[in-house]
Amino acid sequence: MNEAEIVVIGGGVSGLSSAYFLAKAGKNVVVVEKGMVGGEASGRNGGMISERTDEPALIPLALESVRLWTTLEDELGYPTEFIHQGRIQVAVSEEEMGDIFTERDHALHHGISVEQLDPSEISELIPGISGRTLGGLFFANGGHANPQRAVQAFAWAFQDRGGRLYQNTAVTGINVEDDRVTSVETTAGTIAADVVVATAGPQTTLLADMVGLHVPVAPARVEIIATAPLEPLFDIALVGNGLYGRQAARGNLLFGGGAHEWIDVGLTSEPAKPNTPLIRNIARRLAELLPAVADVPVIRSWAGIVEQAPDYMPIIDIPDTPSNYIIVTASAHGFGIAPATGKVVSDLVLQGKSNIDISGLTLNRFSHLTPDWRKKRGWVPAPEHP
Ligand SMILES: Cc1cc2nc3c(=O)[nH]c(=O)nc-3n(C[C@H](O)[C@H](O)[C@H](O)COP(=O)(O)OP(=O)(O)OC[C@H]3O[C@@H](n4cnc5c(N)ncnc54)[C@H](O)[C@@H]3O)c2cc1C
Repeated sequence: MNEAEIVVIGGGVSGLSSAYFLAKAGKNVVVVEKGMVGGEASGRNGGMISERTDEPALIPLALESVRLWTTLEDELGYPTEFIHQGRIQVAVSEEEMGDIFTERDHALHHGISVEQLDPSEISELIPGISGRTLGGLFFANGGHANPQRAVQAFAWAFQDRGGRLYQNTAVTGINVEDDRVTSVETTAGTIAADVVVATAGPQTTLLADMVGLHVPVAPARVEIIATAPLEPLFDIALVGNGLYGRQAARGNLLFGGGAHEWIDVGLTSEPAKPNTPLIRNIARRLAELLPAVADVPVIRSWAGIVEQAPDYMPIIDIPDTPSNYIIVTASAHGFGIAPATGKVVSDLVLQGKSNIDISGLTLNRFSHLTPDWRKKRGWVPAPEHP
């Protein structure tokens, strides 16, 4: 275990996708994961995949990702439950209708195919949708996948190509000499590395502190609910009433969306637990959006942690120093873009650059921030009530 060409810190979808493409290119790669594969956000997310028409800096990465998702099961050799039936965004208020027009204009501006729908067209696609629906958009190129299956697929495919994966092993230190990372300290010993890729979700910022970098991300807890299984209703990814979600292969409706609860994490924190009032709020909004399923019981809920940069966008970069240390944070977009993220990281390691435009995702776009930026933004944990 004591050396590798590349050490990837974090066995989430970003780390495993990066590790997969590097192992496929013949590199000697180790992934170090403090818990289990996909145990954090990567296995707990909504599974939504889109072209990110709302985020221009992300569109090149997102478009490449959707392209990769379409052949990913064949590429990896394991199921991801990817469904490529499109994404529908509906408005149930005048405010959401305004968002619909903005999103349509963004999509058209970036040459992304989008179709405007009236309420009757929407109810044909989503039976049981609220009669309050005013209109919507259909993006043919969107979809969804099963996060747990997908992240496991990357892990198995990585190992099939000779990659080594150490679960229940935490990185506790990073050694730097002459402006280069030389090795990482783990709970199972030291691993020497030529290159280190930090894809540790909210902990990426704590690891960066060890190498003298400031990576400005704030951890936030967000939630998902799962209903009891239903007959197949729709296979499109659905966004509306402040929610996003899908019907899973086994029939459950899985929906999330709501407040970010700012939290703090430690280097080896346990996964977050859900917040009951927020879960109830998601369930209420789902019943409003789909009144036909209002009586179906919620059988599960869970939380996950997203790490938000000040502009809610990912960071993918190699800093000047240490020059062999790649940083990846996802800002809540990480599942859908994961295949292209892995490709980009692999390109950065192998060639020092990527053909996919990530110029809007550099770390130095935050060089003006002061260390107290979270406090200034109010992105800090709420005080505990006595
Ligand atoms: C409820 C929820 C819903 C979401 N919905 C969507 C969605 O629909 N579509 C979408 O695209 N994105 C969604 N996201 C965001 C998406 O899940 C994340 O952006 C993505 O999973 C990030 O993947 P990652 O691999 O970068 O980070 P993570 O999944 O956070 O993985 C980082 C890994 O690093 C490990 N780690 C941390 N510190 C250490 C250490 N010291 N040593 C070793 N290992 C360490 C962690 O244990 C973890 O497994 C959602 C997120 C949540 C929580």
